[in-house]
Amino acid sequence: MNIRRNDIVQVMAGDERSTREKAVRGKVLRVEDDGRVVVEGVNFVWKHLRRSQQHPHGARIQKEAAMDASNLMLVCPSCDKPAKVAHQRLETGERVRICKKCRQAIATRT
Ligand SMILES: [Zn+2]
Repeated sequence: MNIRRNDIVQVMAGDERSTREKAVRGKVLRVEDDGRVVVEGVNFVWKHLRRSQQHPHGARIQKEAAMDASNLMLVCPSCDKPAKVAHQRLETGERVRICKKCRQAIATRT
C-alpha cells in the first residue's frame, strides 16, 4: 500500500473517472483498515440521517465514500504526475517512497 493520509492522489479508474471529463485529484482523508481510501471531494454518496436533535426532520447529506486503492495513483509533489512508487530504506532505518519518474523522495505529509 503506497497511499497514506494527506497524500494527493489521482483517480485512474472506476465510476468517478468515467463520469468526469478531466482527471480528478484529491487529498486522502483516511485510509481504512481494509485498504480502501477516502479522498476529499471524490466518490460522493448520499447518506440518510435519522431524526435527531440536530436534524429534527432527518436529513440527506453528501459524504465521500471509501474507494478501492487500486483505482488511485499517488501524485508526486516534485513532478506533479501520477507516479509509480519505489521504496527505499535509509541508513536511519526509515522507509521512504521514491517517485519512479523523477527519482525524488515523496514526503509523508502531516
Ligand atoms: Zn516525481
